[in-house]
Amino acid sequence: MGVSIIRPALVKSVDLYEGGEQTLHLQTENSDKTIKARWVIDASGVRCLLARKNNWYKPNPSHPTLAAWTRWKGVKDWDDANLAEKYPSLSKNYVGIRGTATNHIIGDGWWAWWIALKGGDTSIGVVIDQRRAKWPPEEEPLGEKIREFLSSHPVAREMMDGAEYIEGDINFRRNLPYSSSVQSGDGFALTGDALAFIDPFYSPGMDWIAFSTMAAVNLVMAWRKGENIQVLSDKLNKQFAMSYQRMFEALYLNKYDYLGDYEIMRLGFRLDIAFYYSFIAYFLFKDGEEGFKEIPFTSPQATPIFALMRLYNSRFAAIARKRREDGRFGRLNSGQRDLFPGFNFNRSFLLKIITKSLFAWALLEIKEGWKSWPVFNLNTANDQAIEEGEPSQA
Ligand SMILES: Cc1cc2nc3c(=O)[nH]c(=O)nc-3n(C[C@H](O)[C@H](O)[C@H](O)COP(=O)(O)OP(=O)(O)OC[C@H]3O[C@@H](n4cnc5c(N)ncnc54)[C@H](O)[C@@H]3O)c2cc1C
Repeated sequence: MGVSIIRPALVKSVDLYEGGEQTLHLQTENSDKTIKARWVIDASGVRCLLARKNNWYKPNPSHPTLAAWTRWKGVKDWDDANLAEKYPSLSKNYVGIRGTATNHIIGDGWWAWWIALKGGDTSIGVVIDQRRAKWPPEEEPLGEKIREFLSSHPVAREMMDGAEYIEGDINFRRNLPYSSSVQSGDGFALTGDALAFIDPFYSPGMDWIAFSTMAAVNLVMAWRKGENIQVLSDKLNKQFAMSYQRMFEALYLNKYDYLGDYEIMRLGFRLDIAFYYSFIAYFLFKDGEEGFKEIPFTSPQATPIFALMRLYNSRFAAIARKRREDGRFGRLNSGQRDLFPGFNFNRSFLLKIITKSLFAWALLEIKEGWKSWPVFNLNTANDQAIEEGEPSQA
């Protein structure tokens, strides 16, 4: 009994035998090794060892995003007194500390994160929908491309003025989303990014790791108790495939069409987060470990919530596309400030946000949304073509 850790080691391949012993071929510092085990948990991240080897890997071409991220030195402090003096409206009415928080800058078809790191560096990353925003051409170093891209935004330009990116710590990935059609079987399970990835917006990565890892743990525990693994694993395979697809359609499909419009995104943001607090986070806090057995968006009770989220998300995207067509996209962005107090688990507080936002959405439909209803307008689909493919890294 006990645990052995082999490090460093590269898993060269894994041969699966459902219901039998799994075989791992490793390359370690000194030699190659073969290990046999009843269970293998694949946590290999975007490399998706098992999904690729077994042809379970499916790219998601409906969401052609691209991400580039690196660390920077010398980025300005959000709370800097000089900045406050130069741009009084930037600090006016703001009582919290921004410098230690994660800040986001959003444009048309893209968003960027700014995370303060220990030691004073800043992680800056940008994610774009390649149908909406254009990534600079290949010649320049990636750090310069990030600077060039973000310089179109006045706040980003000011914050990065004089900052330098750290060579060698630069990441780039095209066509981010994918999933594995199989989550587990009798003797193996996939967790985290090895199972699927959608989008880093709203940071769902840690949730996905938690749900898929707990599912793997429960599966192994059930095997130890002598339960029928095939039945359990068939159920999990269906649930995770459904969860991925519903999460994608409810939250991310064509989201980047309206990210950059303050009025629409403000509504989308409030609804998305209020539903997350009400129907996912709430149960994890209330039920603890048991809450992880309810894979997001898969219960019968979740179906109407999913349908509503998918509906408002697709309507917001259609309204934004119509606004773009009419030259009115982002018309209310200038000088806007939404000092929202935050979210908590008070159900009546969450219900109030949801009701108010749904009401505001209804008004928006009456005021202008109808112009993009399919019956009046057949031409507002997000039909820009993009090169399909698997995530590529540089
Ligand atoms: C641009 C971007 C921004 C993100 N921002 C956030 C965020 O703000 N918040 C959030 O929660 N999530 C975020 N995520 C998601 C988050 O990074 C991932 O969901 C998370 O890292 C996945 O963890 P993991 O353990 O599944 O995989 P990983 O963290 O990728 O770990 C996999 C590990 O397996 C190792 N490995 C792979 N193949 C082999 C092999 N053959 N042999 C041995 N070892 C191997 C790798 O070296 C790696 O150490 C972001 C993702 C992206 C792309």
